[in-house]
Amino acid sequence: MDIEVPVLEERPSLPVLGTAKRFSVRRAFCVGRNYAAHAREMGANPDEEPPFFFMKPAEAIFSVEADFTPPLPIPPGTSDYHFETELVVAMKSGGRDIPEAEALTHVFGYAVGLDMTRRDLQNAAKKKGHPWEFGKAADFSGPVGVITPHAPGVLSADAVIRLEVNGVERQRSTLNTMIWSIPQMIALLSRYFVIRPGDLIFSGTPEGVGAVAKGDALHAEVAGLTAIDLRVV
Ligand code: MN
Repeated sequence: MDIEVPVLEERPSLPVLGTAKRFSVRRAFCVGRNYAAHAREMGANPDEEPPFFFMKPAEAIFSVEADFTPPLPIPPGTSDYHFETELVVAMKSGGRDIPEAEALTHVFGYAVGLDMTRRDLQNAAKKKGHPWEFGKAADFSGPVGVITPHAPGVLSADAVIRLEVNGVERQRSTLNTMIWSIPQMIALLSRYFVIRPGDLIFSGTPEGVGAVAKGDALHAEVAGLTAIDLRVV
């Protein structure tokens, strides 16, 4: 019998600073409520509830190439599509039960990303105790910029993470206000999943999240990394 079997497209991939080689994306883990002030603006109490994980499918990830401003489409089904500026950690190796002290040896590099969120659908899911995918896993909901390879000092502990919409600053914090540090989030994840090359970890967003509108210009940055720019369409 001549059966047509669909063939998967290539994996999404990200540019890497200093080389034409690409980083293939395997999975995207995301940390929820990793900045106390953002947990509070979401109505949660960070003193009582620790951060947690959820996922985006790899297919939601798309690359923001250097010196290029790609379109960021608003997906269907939402009238409250929110930006969340995040540090993205890219893994080159891993395994299970990684000790915190060894976690950074598995990091390939760091990039700036957005965890775009259909907030209205996420809030409806929260109320019902339903899963978050319709809020978090929309197509094109995970733009990520150029990866800067890990090296000592490439990311300072108090690096500023910030976002501007149409030139107006909307989010600003520093990485040292994350509740889970990068080694902690890797160690925790590895107790539940085998971390593999190509895995990404979106490390959570600081306070100031808000809705985008068609035509908005987004500029997100983490000090020391390549900033990203997108145009909402
Ligand atoms: Mn997020």
